[in-house]
Amino acid sequence: MKKVYNFNAGPCVLPQPAVDAAIEALKDFNGTGMPVISVSHRSKEWDAVMDECRGLWRELLHIPEEYEILFLGGGASLQFLMVAMNLLENKAGYLETGVWAKKALKEAKGIGNAVCIASSADTTYNYIPKGYEIPKDLDYFHITTNNTIYGTEIKYDMDCPVNLVADMSSDIMSRPVDVTKYALIYGGAQKNVGPAGVTFVIVRKDVLGKVTRYLPTMLDYRTHIDGGSMFNTPPVFSIYVMNETLKWVKGLGGVEAIHKMNLEKAQILYDEIDRNPLFVGTAAKEDRSIMNVCFVMAPGYEELQDEFLNFAKAHGMVGVKGHRSVGGFRASIYNACPKSAVQALIDCMQEFEKMHK
Ligand SMILES: *Cc1c(COP(=O)(O)O)cnc(C)c1O
Repeated sequence: MKKVYNFNAGPCVLPQPAVDAAIEALKDFNGTGMPVISVSHRSKEWDAVMDECRGLWRELLHIPEEYEILFLGGGASLQFLMVAMNLLENKAGYLETGVWAKKALKEAKGIGNAVCIASSADTTYNYIPKGYEIPKDLDYFHITTNNTIYGTEIKYDMDCPVNLVADMSSDIMSRPVDVTKYALIYGGAQKNVGPAGVTFVIVRKDVLGKVTRYLPTMLDYRTHIDGGSMFNTPPVFSIYVMNETLKWVKGLGGVEAIHKMNLEKAQILYDEIDRNPLFVGTAAKEDRSIMNVCFVMAPGYEELQDEFLNFAKAHGMVGVKGHRSVGGFRASIYNACPKSAVQALIDCMQEFEKMHK
């Protein structure tokens, strides 16, 4: 198989042991004589996977009992709507830190009174707004902890006077999280915890059942709580791979250990960006994401952009092209991206520097 360094933003690199386990499970799932995609989701063998997966979420993020963990369909994008339908009665506030945050706000506006509390749209979302005040009369305040496209991240669990809701699609399981600071956390699995097709929701039960609108059965969190995430057929294969991915996280020493590795990977790459005269980072330094590292050619070297992309590609780098809305480069260095891949990218940048100095 061709050797590549995968920096895709999502779907993205997954731990090899999880991929290998998935391949085996497609041949014979736990000795059932059937591929995992053919067993009944009502079987005891499948129940065991659901239980183990929920257990791993609880253990790895220290999720207290008053929270439920759901595995749903529809992606983070459906959560933009579901959050508002289930929690918005009078007024909701949103921190607009990027395109995903903006999309979440748009869905909430379709449901009720949702307002932007602060935004960094003025400078293409290259920083996290600070110094804003969260009104006390909000049903909830919504944040996007990691802005996948712009490479900014809220790296701490903020104190919030109202229910805090977070889209953690692209930094879940990358750092320890104090779940008790949040009323609801959601995300698509395909950045850090598995393949596309499954969406995780961690919700504190007491925030539900407070809205007066009619909730369609499938869009009511309580349906999925009551059904153990199996009100309808769950995305079995995606959940299977998610479970294997979480086992891998646990095997490495949990989220605390992974966080250390992530900090190290991000540090060496940002150090190179800051040192190398050909490149410059785009995100405000204090808000730099440890998951998505965004950079561009430095002033004076702009015309080398395509050349560097081709050079990186020739050296086995995949997915380093920046999002079309920002241009330049983006290296997504999620949990499963090894330090050796980051080092290979750094080597590439240094070689490219030598060619052009
Ligand atoms: C990728 C991403 C989404 C969209 O997720 P889908 O599962 O494709 O709907 C939403 N928010 C953030 C922060 C993302 O990175």
